[in-house]
Amino acid sequence: MKTRRGQLISGSLFLVYMFRNFLYSVRYAHCCIAVIAFTSFLSAEEAPSNISMEPTSVAATSLPMADKDPPISHTQFTVPITSSDKNKTTHTMERTFIILKPDCLQNKHAGDVISRFESAGFFIIACKMTRLSDVVLREHYAHLAHLPFFSEIIDFMSSSPVILMILEGENCVAHVREILGATDSQAAAPGTIRKTYGTDKMRNIAHASDSPQNAKIEMRRFFKADEICNP
Ligand code: ADP
Repeated sequence: MKTRRGQLISGSLFLVYMFRNFLYSVRYAHCCIAVIAFTSFLSAEEAPSNISMEPTSVAATSLPMADKDPPISHTQFTVPITSSDKNKTTHTMERTFIILKPDCLQNKHAGDVISRFESAGFFIIACKMTRLSDVVLREHYAHLAHLPFFSEIIDFMSSSPVILMILEGENCVAHVREILGATDSQAAAPGTIRKTYGTDKMRNIAHASDSPQNAKIEMRRFFKADEICNP
């Protein structure tokens, strides 16, 4: 009888001991969860909220060769990874070719037009003033050779000096075309360069490459390698 009571007491004590251990382990687990949650909260607070546009490296250290392939920049910009945009980590810069046409210079709009490009964030990496020959203009506007106004364009573009430029910046080709506006100055969107300073379909202030592929061809057509600078 005594032995049975002793067994009962020692069994109860063992159960109490096990229950106490269980309570300790639960409390320990709660502490761990609280610590993990707190550190996660702190790291979320420190996460950057917007894109940093500071250049981190410029890989193109030598002058790009205008007569070799490809005359493009390799400047990289860091873009912090956010939960909504995990695929975009870097943006590669583009270059585009610009002609400030005879009407732009004759009407003294060159400064304003260049200022628009710079205000939009683009860098001038090549620039020269020249008078274009018929030969180079026929090549440049070959896609319009079948149109009735072709010879008129050649005459207009060779009538007085122009300024040739290469601009560099993110999404440069499309963005410059956007701020330049439609071919017809009258029909161009309000606020665009052509709407503000242009006259008509032909006298529309400036040319800008219409694709990255054409930009490369045009840069090579009008600039030598040692005329292009890295900012
Ligand atoms: P964009 O210069 O907008 O790329 P296009 O390549 O079609 O346009 O034309 C090249 C240039 O030819 C124009 O910028 C403009 O000077 C001239 N041009 C285009 N269409 C006409 C037109 N219908 N009449 C007169 N000139 C034109």
